[in-house]
Amino acid sequence: MKKECEIVQDLLFGYQDGTLHIASKELVEKHLKKCEECNKVFNEMKKDEVEESAQEEEIDYLKKVKKKMSKKNKLLIIIGTILGVIILFNIFIFVYYYHEARKVEIYLNSDVTEEQMEDIKNAIENIDKNAKIEYYSKEDALNELKEKFNDNKDLLAGYGGDNNPLNAYYVINTSIENARKIESLEGSLPGIKKITTNLSYNPYEFILSNIAIELTSN
Ligand SMILES: [Zn+2]
Repeated sequence: MKKECEIVQDLLFGYQDGTLHIASKELVEKHLKKCEECNKVFNEMKKDEVEESAQEEEIDYLKKVKKKMSKKNKLLIIIGTILGVIILFNIFIFVYYYHEARKVEIYLNSDVTEEQMEDIKNAIENIDKNAKIEYYSKEDALNELKEKFNDNKDLLAGYGGDNNPLNAYYVINTSIENARKIESLEGSLPGIKKITTNLSYNPYEFILSNIAIELTSN
């Protein structure tokens, strides 16, 4: 009996897989019907197999979850990067705007007198005594324009000397608040043709108009 048990237990794996010859299969079945010990071993084997496949399923599940997580992480990284770029771009726009919005340009009449120019300077200094005032003559204005249209020299070739339709101007660097006050000088002082600032733009319009100017002048 003991000997038969050993043989049957050796055959149990094959029996479970269904790879036994018919004679061996019948031997195992016959033996299992009468031997409690071998039945026990066979039941243990069946239990192990169920557990193993459950473990495999669990591993598969974990792999899937991991894959999903890494997809999610990638998405988060992409969204984070996009948000970061948007935030940086906005910071750049606002810094640029608040730097440029403090600039005022005052264009002078072509028949402006020395005295009027002195009055204009004094009016600016009354508003902001630390304002940085730069003067550009008609010639400076023309040269600046010629430099801008360097690729198209013929366009401005006829201008210069007495034939200069441009106006002299001041560029004033001040605070945004004072830029507004200086802007309101327009119309109140003789000699001023026009005052321009960037204050009427919001930062986005401002950057867009600057990009447009850059694109058209290049
Ligand atoms: Zn047995």
